[in-house]
Amino acid sequence: MGEIAFMKILTLRRLGDPILRAKAKKLAKSQILSTKTQNLIDNLRYTCDKKNYGVGISAPQVGESLAISVIAIKPTPARPDLVLFDDVLINAEIVKTFGQPVKKWEGCCSVGGPAFENLIYGLVPRYKKMRIKYLDRNAQPQTKIVDGFVAHVVQHEIDHLNGVLFTDLADPKSLMMGDEYQRWVINKKHE
Ligand SMILES: [Zn+2]
Repeated sequence: MGEIAFMKILTLRRLGDPILRAKAKKLAKSQILSTKTQNLIDNLRYTCDKKNYGVGISAPQVGESLAISVIAIKPTPARPDLVLFDDVLINAEIVKTFGQPVKKWEGCCSVGGPAFENLIYGLVPRYKKMRIKYLDRNAQPQTKIVDGFVAHVVQHEIDHLNGVLFTDLADPKSLMMGDEYQRWVINKKHE
């Protein structure tokens, strides 16, 4: 779609900005196909790629109260076992969940940071598997079963569209700074 020359890193809105608490607007098909929205999608993806540990980003995080999420999962130092998953979810909804939620570690580039050691991490109950429906960037309806880490990230991003941040749901005593998370969780996992 967009060319690299037009891509830019968008400024992240951070904890305390009211746009992170607003309900994002759904998009009509014509709006999805507009140059403005297509450019926003490209810039969201570019911004997510440039954040070293970013695996997903939603439009409210860059100041647009629109129901657009980019999921760009790739292996990271913290999660070397991840497999690639790259998709744009518009007007995404969870249709069905399977099983009971389990607590998983997560963070958010709108909560703490921008340096890794200043990001906040916490344990959040998330479903392991679910069916979602959404429109893709060509405004085509999609339904998909997602599970594991992808399901986890999609729940975090859909929460962003509803003004919910992971710290609302996290076990408060689990919260950690990035460097402590590295020390007590990531490094322990690899021992
Ligand atoms: Zn987030």
